[in-house]
Amino acid sequence: MQATNPIWAEVQQLLQKNLSKPSFETWIRPAKFNCFENGLLTLIAPNNFASDWLRKNYCETIEKAAEEICGHNVKVIFKSEANINRISESKENLKEKNINIQEKSFSNNQDNTKNRYKNPNSLNLRYVFKRFVVGPNSRLAHAAALAVAESPGREFNPLFICGGVGLGKTHLMQAIGHYRVEIDPEAKVKYVSTETFTNDVISGIRRDGMTAIRDKYRNVDLILIDDIQFLEGKEYTQEEFFHTFNALHESGSQIVIASDRPPNQLSGIQERLISRFSMGMTADIQSPDLETRVAILQKKAEQERMSLPRDLIQFIAGRFTSNIRELEGAFTRAVAFASITGLPLTVQSIAPMLDPNSVGVVVTPNQVINKVSEFFKVSTDELISSSRRKQVSQARQIGMYLMRQGTDLSLPRIGEEFGGKDHTTVMYAIEQVEKKLSTDPNIASQVQKIRDLLQIDSRKNYK
Ligand code: ADP
Ligand code: MG
Repeated sequence: MQATNPIWAEVQQLLQKNLSKPSFETWIRPAKFNCFENGLLTLIAPNNFASDWLRKNYCETIEKAAEEICGHNVKVIFKSEANINRISESKENLKEKNINIQEKSFSNNQDNTKNRYKNPNSLNLRYVFKRFVVGPNSRLAHAAALAVAESPGREFNPLFICGGVGLGKTHLMQAIGHYRVEIDPEAKVKYVSTETFTNDVISGIRRDGMTAIRDKYRNVDLILIDDIQFLEGKEYTQEEFFHTFNALHESGSQIVIASDRPPNQLSGIQERLISRFSMGMTADIQSPDLETRVAILQKKAEQERMSLPRDLIQFIAGRFTSNIRELEGAFTRAVAFASITGLPLTVQSIAPMLDPNSVGVVVTPNQVINKVSEFFKVSTDELISSSRRKQVSQARQIGMYLMRQGTDLSLPRIGEEFGGKDHTTVMYAIEQVEKKLSTDPNIASQVQKIRDLLQIDSRKNYK
């Protein structure tokens, strides 16, 4: 398509001269021309990852080149082919539209004076059944989730989904919400994390606004409550939750709960709540087997319109065995790595950077701290301080993550290296970085760059 537009063809030619070959071939050549109107040049990247990357790294370069060719100011915007296709796909079955309408009308009902709860049941559009790969590890939970979406408020009430971190609990429970709204656009669906629920209860107590909160949580047909283990030890929130649960259950609303443990293993939660959690159906999700992991990666590649060789998919699936979030993170890193270095996406080129052990044996905690502080231009003192400045805390989280990967230190020991932080802080940091690795290409590439630097350093020091 780009060859048909003379301006984009010229801009590409100019960029080809000014950029390295891998950068040009990876990012600029695949970008297609969409339109050029009133100084606004719209380009289409083959997938979301590429459009994010172009936006963050090449926007100015392309604008300058276009200005040189056209002789006036040019703004450039990027769209993703995957998105464009998805939008037209979903328009056909009105699914996403329904969800938007639903979110709007519901938020209007709930709060027409303040804007605080603008989007109370905001569901992630990626978390739909269509994108959930069913394996032996999740078959029961998946079947129960479908059943609940199709006939809510019946025998599986509540549906209690449990399983370890990164195994698809949030994805599955939000898929119920999407599907319910697809079946019944009038259904009032609400997704909430236990953390948000707790915060709402606390602010309700403080502002004496329990009625508003009760309205918010009790006038729904389907409530999805995530990470219920965070209720542990929170007496007052448990009290409020108990009444919310009863009110919803009595009125026939469907309740879906996700937890990292089965009900009987939750400690610090009132017995009467535990018994209610076990009243309907408990379905667990286990770690996926190899075949399922391969299928998940294939689906992801398909969605991102990336083509990964079979043996590379097998390789990644063989490495990241227990956690789907990490599996996705590895996929993203592989793609980012290949793009940055210009190396082909093959097992041979990707293996060294995906192998967690290749860094492990040779990096010291100090090397991690020094490299991270250098990279983010944050002093080592600040890095191990308790500063909450965004740049510092982000660097700290990445540092903790890399120290976990690059050394064999335990979580509490890593906490000590970072100025005596608690091991739960370290655990949280690692989870945050893992999450971002699969959603934020910028972070993925920063982490990869530091990892590379550490490897270079370690070779220098240890050879
Ligand atoms: P949890 O809530 O159990 O910690 P998530 O639902 O957040 O895990 O899942 C982590 C990531 O893995 C998400 O990006 C999700 O889309 C993906 N994922 C999890 N399970 C599956 C699956 N069965 N098929 C496809 N993707 C999955
Ligand atoms: Mg979750």
